[in-house]
Amino acid sequence: MAANLRQIERKDESLLLTLSDDEILDVPYHILRSRCPCANCKPRWEDSHRRLGLEEEVKRLRIEMPKAEPVGRYAVRFIWTSGCSSGLWSYDHLIAVARGI
Ligand SMILES: [Zn+2]
Repeated sequence: MAANLRQIERKDESLLLTLSDDEILDVPYHILRSRCPCANCKPRWEDSHRRLGLEEEVKRLRIEMPKAEPVGRYAVRFIWTSGCSSGLWSYDHLIAVARGI
């Protein structure tokens, strides 16, 4: 059974995830944003040919701390002032991104 997400902390340039087994994962925002799970972005990073274009787009965005809105008990929405804020981030997806999908 995989560990659950216990806490999300926003730092200046990255998201800090604390798991139920006390493991701490640090996810830079540009990594997070290049794996946005929304219907527009997801097909882009899932396609190895289109992934690089999305990653380069995201790297050109200003590094900023997003607003975070909890959605139910197992997801969160991040609101940035530029780029895509449509993603609904399940905790499972956050952990998967932190582990390098
Ligand atoms: Zn998106």
